[in-house]
Amino acid sequence: MTESAHQGSSAGIPDETDVLIVGGGPAGSLLACLLARRGIRTVLVEKQTSLERSFRGETIAAPSVASLNQLGFGPALREHGFLETTAVTTIAEQRPVLRVDYSKFAGLPLPIDIPQPGLIRIFNRHTAELPGHTYLSGWSFASLVEEGGTVRGAVLTRRGEKVTVRSRIVIGADGRFSKVRKASGLVADVQPMARDFLSFLVPRPPEWGSEAQLVIEGDRHLVVLPTFPDSLRIGHNLPKRGLGDLRAAGFDAFKRGIMAISPQLAPLVDEHLHTWDDTGFLEIFTAELEEWARDGLLLIGDASHTATPILGQGVNLAMQDAITIVPVIAASLAKGGQDRVVTKAELADFVAKRRAHKIHVTGFQRMQEGLLAIGDPRGIKLRRLRFRVLNSIPGKYRIFNKVINARHEIDPVDLAAARNAPAPTPATASPVLQEASRD
Ligand SMILES: Cc1cc2nc3c(=O)[nH]c(=O)nc-3n(C[C@H](O)[C@H](O)[C@H](O)COP(=O)(O)OP(=O)(O)OC[C@H]3O[C@@H](n4cnc5c(N)ncnc54)[C@H](O)[C@@H]3O)c2cc1C
Repeated sequence: MTESAHQGSSAGIPDETDVLIVGGGPAGSLLACLLARRGIRTVLVEKQTSLERSFRGETIAAPSVASLNQLGFGPALREHGFLETTAVTTIAEQRPVLRVDYSKFAGLPLPIDIPQPGLIRIFNRHTAELPGHTYLSGWSFASLVEEGGTVRGAVLTRRGEKVTVRSRIVIGADGRFSKVRKASGLVADVQPMARDFLSFLVPRPPEWGSEAQLVIEGDRHLVVLPTFPDSLRIGHNLPKRGLGDLRAAGFDAFKRGIMAISPQLAPLVDEHLHTWDDTGFLEIFTAELEEWARDGLLLIGDASHTATPILGQGVNLAMQDAITIVPVIAASLAKGGQDRVVTKAELADFVAKRRAHKIHVTGFQRMQEGLLAIGDPRGIKLRRLRFRVLNSIPGKYRIFNKVINARHEIDPVDLAAARNAPAPTPATASPVLQEASRD
């Protein structure tokens, strides 16, 4: 324990809990909710005091939509509102070459777009109604409490104050730059992608519908996502560390570049994109780890494996981690008292399965990224041909199904808990989060 840290008790923070979750993104907030439904004591630590975070992934892929419905969140999602995405079309050098119609994936709902604050608020509001849960807003993870190589909790900090919370497992759900991961000594292989991303919003014309587009012109591309309630989010690739050069060339040149890639979007971009302040930068890298767990510690979501934005899988993968780890943690906790931690061996099967799936997804993303980076005329022609062939083969939906629609189990106990829990409330009102608010 750090010398200046005192044990629990500050602002009603418990000395000890069953599960200490660091990070209240999609992974951490859903995990806290599902554990609390089972009556497992949780502390969720989120360093931000507001959910109004800058843009994050908003697409929830079909299997996660199905899971959220099965877990009882459907009515709250509908009450909040979302946008169903019907298809994605790839347009290469002004010609449509590949179309994936999401309604063709049998037995699955359509993917939806919902801003992360709304989604997380649905989870947090529901969890706040359940006993045994503490939400620490504005508190940050500082360091791990370790005894003889086993993780026994964490030191948390807020404005110079430090507290220690002991737990039977610490979950690092603190995102792509995870501090828990660094503190754990688990090593990430971080691979920068060749390009980064700049994104911006324009109003969505009524005739656009709700189809996404991937628009390619040589080695430049745009990802166009219909966004709730009435926008299009457009992401543009730029060379690694290319932001300085782009800015030096001037905003008008940037705009003209976008308009040249998609004549369809040109009038919207011309009218609605005004300054660099209208754009947001995303550094693209993948992070992969051989090990996600130690005795008393597990990484999930982006902290365990960071994907790229291609095919919008980050949120989906994060929530799948949360849903599938719940029964594993519950089974371990049921075995013994407060001194017994969840062991690395008990987590091994979860890690192996989830890791294999995520490696498959990022492998596909790297292959796509390689295709999108092609700039020579022959390569561009071949790429078009490749997309056209993929578009026409009978196995097209099978290939995409494996990457974007991989199914995951929901434990029957969680399905039953969903039926018995109070209905999750909608998230349209002001945030419920307060500093160190308790159940
Ligand atoms: C700008 C941007 C754009 C993206 N676009 C897409 C997209 O288009 N499609 C897609 O699928 N994915 C996208 N992603 C990725 C997607 O947002 C993530 O995959 C997803 O949010 C991962 O969920 P998570 O819960 O694992 O982590 P996060 O959502 O990153 O949540 C981590 C949480 O931990 C908190 N935290 C961090 N450090 C600490 C600490 N020391 N103590 C306490 N709390 C801490 C953070 O404040 C945050 O709330 C994007 C990400 C970014 C940053």
